[in-house]
Amino acid sequence: MREDFEAISHTVYGAIRMAECEKLETCGFFKKYQKSHASACKTLIETYCMNKESSETCVRKKIFQETGSPPDDDIMPTGQTVDDV
Ligand code: SF4
Repeated sequence: MREDFEAISHTVYGAIRMAECEKLETCGFFKKYQKSHASACKTLIETYCMNKESSETCVRKKIFQETGSPPDDDIMPTGQTVDDV
């Protein structure tokens, strides 16, 4: 019974993780602002980071793909800097 629960939990957890951006654990913006109370950050994280499909349009991800380096932590998924909002 416990093994069944663990197997189901693992499957559900994996499905949830699939719905997020694959860079979530290494992304400087997410790590720095994931607990921010600023509404702009919360909205962007919900819109981009927690949605695999939307994350494909993230400017941070494009910068990383084009340069091979992570952008500054303060660059948001829209390409604006946090100080600009
Ligand atoms: S900011 Fe962009 S690259 Fe970083 S976790 Fe969110 S969607 Fe992914």
